[in-house]
Amino acid sequence: MSTQAYDAVIIGSGVIGSSITYELGRRGLRTLTVDRNGGAGLGSTSYSSAIVRFTYSTYPGVAMSYEGLRYWQNWGDHLNAGSNDDLAKFHQCGMATLKTEGGHHLKVLPHFDSIGIPYEHWDIDDFRVHLPELDLSTFGPPKRPDDESFWNEPTEQLEGAVFTPEAGYISDPQLAAQNLCTAATALGCEFLFNVEVTSITRTGHRITGLQLAHGTTISTPVIVNAAGPHSRIVNEMAGALEDMSIGTNPLRQEVHHVPSPPEFDFENRGFSIADDDNGIYVRPDLGNNILVGSTEPDCDPLHWVDPDYQGEIDVGQWEAQVLRLNRRLPSVGVPHQKRGVVGVYDVADDWIPIYDRTCVDGFYVAIGTSGNQFKNAGIAGYCMSELIEAVENGQDHDSDPVSVTGPHTSLPIDMGNFRRTRTINPDSSMSVHG
Ligand SMILES: Cc1cc2nc3c(=O)[nH]c(=O)nc-3n(C[C@H](O)[C@H](O)[C@H](O)COP(=O)(O)OP(=O)(O)OC[C@H]3O[C@@H](n4cnc5c(N)ncnc54)[C@H](O)[C@@H]3O)c2cc1C
Repeated sequence: MSTQAYDAVIIGSGVIGSSITYELGRRGLRTLTVDRNGGAGLGSTSYSSAIVRFTYSTYPGVAMSYEGLRYWQNWGDHLNAGSNDDLAKFHQCGMATLKTEGGHHLKVLPHFDSIGIPYEHWDIDDFRVHLPELDLSTFGPPKRPDDESFWNEPTEQLEGAVFTPEAGYISDPQLAAQNLCTAATALGCEFLFNVEVTSITRTGHRITGLQLAHGTTISTPVIVNAAGPHSRIVNEMAGALEDMSIGTNPLRQEVHHVPSPPEFDFENRGFSIADDDNGIYVRPDLGNNILVGSTEPDCDPLHWVDPDYQGEIDVGQWEAQVLRLNRRLPSVGVPHQKRGVVGVYDVADDWIPIYDRTCVDGFYVAIGTSGNQFKNAGIAGYCMSELIEAVENGQDHDSDPVSVTGPHTSLPIDMGNFRRTRTINPDSSMSVHG
């Protein structure tokens, strides 16, 4: 059995853990990032739809995502990458949030106005110009296809949408995590793959280190839990659950890939669509595909699973999502081949992440990413490194929350909003919208 010492150890090399690693490395810390998988970004990150949008229910959520956009727009500079490096690419396709009665757009718009996020109100005539194939009938509230009212002829039209031209997506989320890993390695950060963290050691209330499955002991004063759907298990190892009022749990999630008819050319003409009327979200994908996911409508049961869950496409869910897409975009049709991914979200009780210290000194969490934090990876890494530095230098974040200024937008991000000890945020959408 050998022992090694580091300034900080990050558990998990998904897009969040790799980003935290990079930011701590930039501050000159000697870090080790451990992952049970064989490379960076092979956990839940690899299943991500990787949509970059700003439509969160709370001001900090909107501010963080708008700051997060700048990282993707400046990805090569952020990583200090060479011009020939294979980098994740940001595709700015825009996003239409369909307006439903009393809908999500009403929560979002005041934050857009106060931050100055550009948006347009689109009515039905605007859609005729931008995407005439879209059927703007009111189908909702969302139903499952085995409910016979699913096929009722709609009698009303939606009002339109809020369109955010700066939104987009990353076509290869796993590559984004690998980019961060490569950039961190260039700074001297170490990564250890195919090894599981099996226990965390402490003396009293202070972290002292951790143990790996093959027997190695690592000594460190700082550990960051960025274990994605395994977050709760890692918190248990550290004995950090004691004062957490917000829990995290793994939730099964399917995203389907439907070919766009060639003449429709959704890859180039399309944009992301948040469609609460139908319980789906949609985005263009490379290879002229349409990606369709769920916004957790009430009629769809939630499947809470084991964090190691690996499943196949469920025919019922595939039909639900693809037929909903088909009602909105009838020219797409229903493909014979069922393609898609089955991933796992690490869902916080109010669908808002926990970026915080814990009751165990030196043990930090970047968890509960709730299917909506890929886009925030860059800024989340920065915020966590600011928080860790402040707390390790003596700031009592619980009573005096760390406030971060977005490096690109200068927007204030009050980290107190992401506390483990909060009550359920009443403004939350309680869904993937955050
Ligand atoms: C289907 C799907 C669609 C999504 N779509 C979007 C989207 O459109 N936009 C958006 O912003 N977000 C989206 N998300 C959310 C986003 O992808 C996640 O929030 C983000 O990728 C989480 O990254 P992570 O690094 O926290 O977790 P992960 O990528 O899961 O990484 C955690 C890592 O920890 C490792 N680990 C766990 N336990 C241990 C241990 N004991 N020892 C060693 N290693 C361990 C795992 O092996 C894993 O690699 C989506 C997620 C999914 C699943």
